Amino acid sequence: MGTELAEGQPLQASKAARQARAAIARKQREPMSLEMVDVAAPRDDEVLVRLVATGVCHTDIVCRDAFPVPMPIVLGHEGAGVVEAVGSKVGNLAIGDHVIFSFNSCGACSNCQSHEPAYCHQFLGLNFGGVLLEDGSSPLSQNGTLVHANFFGQSSFATLAIARAKNAVKVDPTLPLDLLGPLGCGIQTGAGAVMNSLKVRAGRAIVIFGAGAVGMSAVMAAKVVGASAVILVEPNAARRALALELGATATIDPRDGSDTVAAIRAASGGAGVDYALDTTGIPAIMTTASEVLLPNGQLGLIGIPPPDAMVPLNIMSIYARGLSLKCIVEGDSDPQVFIPQLIALYKSGKLPFDRLIKKFPFDQINEAMAASESGDVIKPVIVF
Ligand SMILES: [Zn+2]
Ligand SMILES: [Zn+2]
Repeated sequence: MGTELAEGQPLQASKAARQARAAIARKQREPMSLEMVDVAAPRDDEVLVRLVATGVCHTDIVCRDAFPVPMPIVLGHEGAGVVEAVGSKVGNLAIGDHVIFSFNSCGACSNCQSHEPAYCHQFLGLNFGGVLLEDGSSPLSQNGTLVHANFFGQSSFATLAIARAKNAVKVDPTLPLDLLGPLGCGIQTGAGAVMNSLKVRAGRAIVIFGAGAVGMSAVMAAKVVGASAVILVEPNAARRALALELGATATIDPRDGSDTVAAIRAASGGAGVDYALDTTGIPAIMTTASEVLLPNGQLGLIGIPPPDAMVPLNIMSIYARGLSLKCIVEGDSDPQVFIPQLIALYKSGKLPFDRLIKKFPFDQINEAMAASESGDVIKPVIVF
């Protein structure tokens, strides 16, 4: 049973009678289609949110094209909106609250209990399964036929979304809600990789490979924590220029014909770096990243490699330097804790992630996906 916002709703409407406009992915590698869907009322621990905006993340593209999510499905996982109805057991959110969504987690497994929800034992099912794990249902349907939802606990490529109160983070209503959605995945992943996963220390050097939203957020976060050198390796000249404004101390074009390893060492002051972060998922770059690390250095991997990729690593060389390797999910974030910290940094001007964003109307969601794939836009945001 949910508490409903009556405004604009006919009195005779049943609790499951809301309709939303949604972008539905019906077939791999095909454009999504904008269609009407029926939206169920929120369950006890859920909220119904009217989306204001949602970011487009690389994972949306991967799931549309390759990762085996069940279809038809509504993707989208950087939603921001206003709470329109709350379930009976929701205590921390009320109608009218501004929220942004983050990933879903069970709350009960050992990692969730230790505030490490990015490593929830049920992460895959809860975020990619397309249905509620407990009963196989979906809050979305069309003429009684199930449409998969619950993508990252939200499916935010729609004008309405059902999420658990647990993965909706309340935000200051005076902030521009149309900009905040990407905090829920891309920004928190990049910034969290630096601040939570690698725990980059002041006065130490880091190299970051790739300047998508995740890499750029890592650059900004590295500046925040006081890294002595923030070196970005990125082939796109416009992105290298922007990175220098956002906190990079040096940028390297890996395609200019020179020795990238030597260039990173030179930019670090000569010896190498303490931290290397790959956001590209390209095996050859992971190898390069392992080669530029100083003793006791840490290699963080965020970029998703092809499923059968093998990465050549000289294990003796890694052993001799005592390197650590960390595969990073969602920046090791506990969203209810970390997103407010990121918002505080944004308010103080230290995390200007809005400079990565270009807005698109919902009708142009396929164009927004294409702009991300082509590299024209770092972080497309759909505005409803
Ligand atoms: Zn869990
Ligand atoms: Zn994402």
